[in-house]
Amino acid sequence: MMAQYLALKEQAADCLLFYRMGDFFELFFDDAKTAAQVLDIALTSRGEHGGAPIPMCGVPVHSAEGYLARLIKAGCRVAIAEQTESPEEAKKRGGSKALVARDIVRFVTAGTLTEEALLEPRRANVLAAICPVRDGIGIAACDISTGRMELEECAPEAMGAALARLGASEVVAPEDWADAPFEMVPRPARSFDSARGESRLKDLHAVATLDGFGRFSRAMLAAACGLVDYLDHAGRGKLPFLLPPVVREAGGHMAMDEATRASLEILSSTTGGRRGSLVEAIDRCVTGAGARLLAEDLSAPLTDPAAIRERLELVSWFHDDPLLRGDVRAILRAAPDVGRALGRVVAGRGSPRDLGQLRDGLSEALRLRDLLFARADRPALADGLLPSLGGHGALVDLFARALVPAPPTERGQGGFIAEGYDAALDELRRSAGNSRRAIAALEAKYRDETGVAALKIRHNGVLGYFIEVPAKHADRLMQPDSGFTHRQTMAGAVRFNALALHEEASRIAESGGHALAAEEAHFEDLVGQAVARREAIAATAAALARLDVAAGQAERAAEGGWSLPRVVDEPCLDIVGGRHPVVEAALAAKGERFVANDCALSSHDRLWLIGGPNMGGKSTFLRQNALIVLLAQAGGFVPATSATVGLVDRLFSRVGAADNLARGRSTFMVEMVETAAILAQATERSFVILDEVGRGTSTYDGLALAWAVAEAVHEVNRSRCLFATHYHELARLAETCPALSLHHVRAREWKGDLVLLHELAEGPADKSYGLAVARLAGVPAPVVKRAKAVLDKLEKGRAATGGLAAGLGELPLFAAAIEAAEEKVDALREKLDAVDIDSLSPRAALDLLYELKRDI
Ligand code: ADP
Repeated sequence: MMAQYLALKEQAADCLLFYRMGDFFELFFDDAKTAAQVLDIALTSRGEHGGAPIPMCGVPVHSAEGYLARLIKAGCRVAIAEQTESPEEAKKRGGSKALVARDIVRFVTAGTLTEEALLEPRRANVLAAICPVRDGIGIAACDISTGRMELEECAPEAMGAALARLGASEVVAPEDWADAPFEMVPRPARSFDSARGESRLKDLHAVATLDGFGRFSRAMLAAACGLVDYLDHAGRGKLPFLLPPVVREAGGHMAMDEATRASLEILSSTTGGRRGSLVEAIDRCVTGAGARLLAEDLSAPLTDPAAIRERLELVSWFHDDPLLRGDVRAILRAAPDVGRALGRVVAGRGSPRDLGQLRDGLSEALRLRDLLFARADRPALADGLLPSLGGHGALVDLFARALVPAPPTERGQGGFIAEGYDAALDELRRSAGNSRRAIAALEAKYRDETGVAALKIRHNGVLGYFIEVPAKHADRLMQPDSGFTHRQTMAGAVRFNALALHEEASRIAESGGHALAAEEAHFEDLVGQAVARREAIAATAAALARLDVAAGQAERAAEGGWSLPRVVDEPCLDIVGGRHPVVEAALAAKGERFVANDCALSSHDRLWLIGGPNMGGKSTFLRQNALIVLLAQAGGFVPATSATVGLVDRLFSRVGAADNLARGRSTFMVEMVETAAILAQATERSFVILDEVGRGTSTYDGLALAWAVAEAVHEVNRSRCLFATHYHELARLAETCPALSLHHVRAREWKGDLVLLHELAEGPADKSYGLAVARLAGVPAPVVKRAKAVLDKLEKGRAATGGLAAGLGELPLFAAAIEAAEEKVDALREKLDAVDIDSLSPRAALDLLYELKRDI
């Protein structure tokens, strides 16, 4: 057995091997130690290997799913080795001592799950394959629980953002990609072959050309190959459900890098998890599929105004008609997760319950279609979704006739095919039922005959049906002519058989066996019917999800008094009465009110410098505007009285290092790397929020950097930008930057206390209130008093010398400085161009070097 075990383990070196032994999956050696620790189950030992006891632990097969879920969550990968023959077959093959053959039937990894119990209903589960091809990066991603597959190619520097958007739970990449900047499952390089990728996709979808699906680059096909190969490997040759691949166009979505996503807390908050995230504050979907699509919408807001307007129109429709919205949501609430049920059915892991879910989901979809069809004022998007909702009438009818109302998750026991669907099956069941009744009658008869009132006919897995009497009455049945044959003597009871009982029992076994076989055949047939229509069913699932998202957005908007944003082309951002959905909800929970604020950026007033005391609401204001842009372009209403959003191509959000101290690595370095990315990538159509950038270093460095960064964003990137800072000195930028204006969050000192008004006002901040905030925070009065004395001294010094920013007024303008530097470079280049190096004497060359050095 150990030899067999070790041979299997060799194929699954990076996995925990679940080795099937009867009703248990057993783990050995280090696998056992890991699993026992993660699962908190007993570690025992069994036999010896190389003179040492073999550590072992096990989990029951019937509850293995729960254990698997915990192992996967803990980052483990699991290989499942099943018995591929029965003990009887093994005996027949190799005698009584023969070992049952076993084989790995599946690798269970984070990205290859389909089981309902292992998946979170409101989160997509994405597997990605990534491979570099010449100067591009191919990315293939899929969610095998629903079959969605998407291909894209991006530049190397955009890979981080693409990965952040996908949020994959597992990423595979070629093993020779040594410096891949993400955690990966290494796969052989030959697994990423574009030609083979193309033919795999063609085979998978039985087409002669992929042109019908879109235009795929070599990098995309190579990544697709890696993805399908890996799925093939994980399923041991059994591929899961994959829909035809969709190309994700570069630029089709608002670009956001990982730092931006993290700081805006879109899908998870900085404390981790969904709590406190944007999606939690927005999500009013009534189905898991809707929630998954909403998360996807928020991760990839659109940039095409027509597509955004289409979504908004649908949300508006539901928003303006609460009755319709209520009806639609009631139907959706009753609809099971069609997409995931289909995923399991197509992957060959479906249960009767999954078929029941398809039936119920598709019939709800039909109801929804009829409801929407009756409306004349349907917006375009609803119109487009309508055909996908129907077309399953025949399948729904078939499933309705074939299946019982609530089919079980186990198919081995039968009992899921409805009565009246198959006359022969009904007959088998009737005869089994008759026999069962006959057995009940026999019990009464035997009691009569023997006079033993405690006589019982019972059933177990080993003996089948038998007669049982208490030991003290056993004698009567032991008589040679009693018609009973002895089978087993227990502690307090004796068990018998009888001819009539045996006959009825055989009849039950026979008809039961035939009935099970008949149900199994029907199951296969029904699965086949669903599989044949898989693409249409997947389209229905997608349409249901889209309607759920729109109705949910409308519900959220109605709940919070949100408004329909206007999306325009000009680079503006005009928000009246904007709010931060997460902070507002947190305040509301404490019974506090959120103060709404306006924002008005345009091409001639595009950089707002925002000062004011700590805790005054600067970060909140910055983020609420970024979130409003994001929500609008994702096609939803926004938390504001009104909002006009000029389309944003890239959104950047940066937080000064001091807020991120937990991150370990030189936080100032991180801050600068992130800032560099903005300066390199932000365009005139981008929106940038910078929160206390420059704070992670000394005062002078920080001020100087903040100053230069603000100037560069204003002069070079020309993006719309909100810049929160506590450096008063930056206010002087307003003198030289015409499209920059000064704002502050208001505060007031009242009877020695600081009152933070959380209200945005024009003009520079008058003072920093740092000491007042300190007092508010509970710093002891003597310390605050001492700080006040130090401050007075410093301020006197500042008055005398002109302060931190003394002399900055004489600095040439940013543009002029850049221009001067460029002119110098041009002059140098001209001088060098004019030199004929070959005819230069060493002496003249040396003179030239001196001259160039002087010019710099
Ligand atoms: P800053 O960035 O200026 O230090 P924050 O934006 O972090 O301040 O806000 C601090 C706290 O003030 C928030 O956690 C919130 O409780 C409260 N706050 C912020 N903005 C508002 C607002 N507009 N209305 C009400 N309370 C607010």
